[in-house]
Amino acid sequence: MSTESVDEFRVRAAAWLAEHRHYAPRDYGAICPPDLIDAAVTWQQRIFHAGFAGLHWPVEHGGQGLSPAHHGAWVEECAKASVPPLLNMVGLVLAGGAVMAFGTDEQKRQHLHSTLTADNVWCQLFSEPGAGSDLGSLSTRAERDGDNFVINGQKVWCSGGRCSNWGILMARTNPDAPKHEGISFFLVPMDLPGIEVRPLRQMTGESEFDEVFFTDVHLPTEHLIGPLHGGWGVGMAVLTNERGHIGASVIGLERRLESIAALGRGRGLDSSRKDQLVSLLSLGTAFKAMAQTQGPVASTASSLMKLGITEMMFGVAMLRGDISGADAMLEGSDASGMLAAPGGRIAGGSSQVQRNIIGERLLGLPREPK
Ligand SMILES: Cc1cc2nc3c(=O)[nH]c(=O)nc-3n(C[C@H](O)[C@H](O)[C@H](O)COP(=O)(O)OP(=O)(O)OC[C@H]3O[C@@H](n4cnc5c(N)ncnc54)[C@H](O)[C@@H]3O)c2cc1C
Repeated sequence: MSTESVDEFRVRAAAWLAEHRHYAPRDYGAICPPDLIDAAVTWQQRIFHAGFAGLHWPVEHGGQGLSPAHHGAWVEECAKASVPPLLNMVGLVLAGGAVMAFGTDEQKRQHLHSTLTADNVWCQLFSEPGAGSDLGSLSTRAERDGDNFVINGQKVWCSGGRCSNWGILMARTNPDAPKHEGISFFLVPMDLPGIEVRPLRQMTGESEFDEVFFTDVHLPTEHLIGPLHGGWGVGMAVLTNERGHIGASVIGLERRLESIAALGRGRGLDSSRKDQLVSLLSLGTAFKAMAQTQGPVASTASSLMKLGITEMMFGVAMLRGDISGADAMLEGSDASGMLAAPGGRIAGGSSQVQRNIIGERLLGLPREPK
């Protein structure tokens, strides 16, 4: 374990970023859009070679053996420099986290280093047309046949599916068990015969998602991760990491708050809009304080962060459009900001689902009826 303190690390990271930030693609957030994938892969490789990838991952798997607090400082310094801290959350947080916590030694050897170097680019194959918030209802089947699982079904809303060479998949292995007890978790090479990836067009005009169809896909059993039929536990651990990362990513909220405050400058806002702006800024400042105390470790409180930040960013996008007036309806960054804003409230578990989690697990309210 290195003895470099978080503050010393922060100085080193900031200096490196000042020198190399011009190589980075624009800061796209947690999900890399398909048109930036090549630049993002090159950026991840550069981060890896400079010793800033996998900061809190074990050294034997290509990481730096530092603490989650060092990783948090990296995310914050990247936010200040307006660069992505990593290629994508699905690979570096979700797939990496699953392999680290549940993988066999062989799976760790195969996937961790190659995820840090961006040789493995990952997508997430969880949601289905009939299973989103209620993921336990998923119906994609994985049936054992000798040394393989044979997979049939359809996934949807797969961010960056067509740019990925590996996917994390949840599929039903025991249809007779209670719904959460018959699911398994797999690592899937996206080039297996029988996998078809079809882009979906969204209302921003872009195509960041894909539908993914599985037809008699033969997946070797060595790609099962975690217990057979015990994939629900793996999936829930992964999704908690996702919320934690979305929460931790807002450590750089300072910069966003500055741009929100700038909305009011020189525009002669009426008192109602001033009021909205001040509410959003107060909310953002409160979340910044919470992010600083919470740090980058995922917990139930990350639902609070995820809910608060995405609702706030939705409010900001709408106010921005409102201030710009009719012009914002046509095109440009205000229009695309408004069209993209609802996605943040849905991805990683919708706002309503976060409220359920907060109510049940943080406030101790009665559980939602099944
Ligand atoms: C930007 C983005 C990226 C995504 N990337 C991926 C990806 O890479 N891979 C992947 O697998 N999926 C991905 N998704 C899908 C995402 O996980 C689902 O959209 C999400 O889980 C919601 O599911 P759904 O769309 O089926 O909506 P539904 O679950 O059908 O929900 C519809 C509405 O009902 C509400 N609702 C549902 N259940 C409850 C409840 N119990 N209590 C109160 N309200 C409820 C919801 O909040 C929502 O408003 C992505 C989504 C977005 C927006």
